[in-house]
Formats: sequence, C-alpha cells, structure tokens
Amino acid sequence: MKITSQAKYFDGKTSKPHFVELEVFLHNQVTFYFENRRLVWNFQDIKFEKNGEILSITKKDNLHEIIKIENPETADTIYKSAKTSQNLSWYQNILDFGPKFYLTAFVSVITLIACFYIFIIPYVSEKVTDILPISFDEEIGNTSFQQIKSTSNIDEKQSEKLQEFANLINFATERKLHFKVINDEEVNAFALPDGTIVVYSGLLSKVENPNELAALLGHEATHIKERHSTKILARSIAGYAIVSLVVGDVNGIMTTLANNANELNNLSFSREFEQSADEGSYAILKQNKINSEGMYQLFKILEKSDNLEVPKILSTHPLTKDRMNYSKTLMDKNEYSFSSNPELQKAFDNLKK
Ligand SMILES: [Zn+2]
Repeated sequence: MKITSQAKYFDGKTSKPHFVELEVFLHNQVTFYFENRRLVWNFQDIKFEKNGEILSITKKDNLHEIIKIENPETADTIYKSAKTSQNLSWYQNILDFGPKFYLTAFVSVITLIACFYIFIIPYVSEKVTDILPISFDEEIGNTSFQQIKSTSNIDEKQSEKLQEFANLINFATERKLHFKVINDEEVNAFALPDGTIVVYSGLLSKVENPNELAALLGHEATHIKERHSTKILARSIAGYAIVSLVVGDVNGIMTTLANNANELNNLSFSREFEQSADEGSYAILKQNKINSEGMYQLFKILEKSDNLEVPKILSTHPLTKDRMNYSKTLMDKNEYSFSSNPELQKAFDNLKK
C-alpha cells in the first residue's frame, strides 16, 4: 500500500526545511525527490519517532537528515505501519508500552530490592559470618564489654554467684561463657559475642525459680553460640555496602561497623533469631532436665513488668505473643521428664540471698 504526503525534509546541512512530496510504501520504504534526485529510505535503515502528532523519520547512519510529517492522520498511519515492521527505536517502544508497563517495571524493581533485603543479604551475611573466625566475635565483644564495664556498676560478688549457678548447666557449647551481674534496677539482660552474658539485678530480683533463670541464660547463650550479633553486623554492613555502591560513599561502611560494634548490647534481634534462641534454650533445658515451664514463666514475668515502661530487655529481645505461644508448642511437641536439681536450687537461693 502506498501513501503520499507533504513533508518537510531537513538535509542536515542547513536548518532550513525543504518541502517534499513523500511516497511511503508501507512496511517497506520512503521515497521522495530532492534536487532532482530520487532518494530511497528503506524501513530497516530508518527510525520513526512520534512527538505529539508530528512524525519524525531519521536515517540510522545520519541522524541529521530528518523528514517530518505534520499531517496527523498520515503521520499515524505511517507510524502504525512502522511499528508493526519493528522499526521503532527501542525507547519509543518503551514509551508505547504505557502505564501498565511502568507499573509492572516499578513492582518488579521493588520486588527485587525486597528480595535482596529478605533473602540475599541474610544469605550473604550468613556466609560472611562463616568465614569470620570466632576470634572476631571475641574481639568485638570484648571491646564492647570494656566500654560497658567503664560505665556500669558490675557486682563482682553476684557475678561470681551467677557464674556458679551457670556452671551447673551444660550449655552444649565449646565457647567459654562468662556471667556478669550489673547493679541496676533496669529489667535487662544481654549477650555479647565474646561469650559474656550480663544480667541486671533488676531482672534477677524478678525471677522466682532456677528454671526461669536457666531459660534466660539458655536463650542468651544461644545468641552467642549461633553468632547472632555478628550476623546482624554483617547484615547491616552488607546493606550499607549496597547503598554505598549506589551512592558512591565508602567511608560510611566503616562508620556503620563502628557504630554497631559500640552498641552490641543494644542490637535488636529479629524474630527469626529470637525464635532460634528460644529453641536453643529449650534444648538446653531439656538436656539438663530442667522444667521447661521456666521459659513460659519468664515470658510472663517480662510481660507483667511491662506496666509502666517497656523493660529494656524487650526492646532488644522482642517478646511477641507468637513467641509465648511458640514456647507452649515446643513444650507440647517435645515433652520430657525433668527432675528436681537441689544443687541448682541451692546456687539459685544463694544468688537471691
Ligand atoms: Zn534474644
């Protein structure tokens, strides 16, 4: 099919348009007479762009030579023909995809970023943690503990008694665990990656039996065994590294590392790490034949002390209804017989004196 149309031709040498009579063989070629010569532009050698109602045709090897068709109907017919001939420039194609395409693209990009944060970063940080030697945990944990020591009141006598209590429990780990008591009304406890487990006197005063205390220590010990702090550090560094690559700021990575290392006692564990620490604690209670009710009772105590302000321990070890229910599930699924442990009770009473 052939269309004829008036058009403006720019020869690329001057900015002055020449009026030409265009013959367009749809899906095939554009021809016109210029300075007594018949010029032939084949569809595969040209590209079509539409700006509003004006259709521009340019040669791929010489972008300065342009034909402009201003008649809207003709422009549209030729453009549609070009489109089916796949001769459109790629960005014109994208423009033609319309809002649906953009929405899809937007959702895809967001999904990709989410996947990165949900799957890839945790996976990478897991691998990075595997490569890092335990001495890394020891070092950052110790640095953090030295800082805490200088600003807190460590009760050496109570720390010794807590250590004696803990020595009666098999935590099923090669890591050496150190137990410390800080004199502070705050209801708090935390684990540092070097194996230090700190319990505040404010929390000690609330636990009522050795089972609850064992459940608490088992939970903290599992955070250390499974290197949760190091994994969080690796995650925030991985996250920051990606942002830095995009933004081009590398110094920030070191700042992130330094900031997080200074705040090891304030790292907030994710739901999955909390659940894993509860599972680990449950296994420790079972192995030591300690009544697992202690775990649920501990949660109850923490929930109850929530009357005026949120206890500090809940901000770093978020306690959810899920977690409480899960501890019940663990008990139901994994029953075992426990026995009274007079030695543990004695060590507990000694601590509570
Ligand atoms: Zn925790």
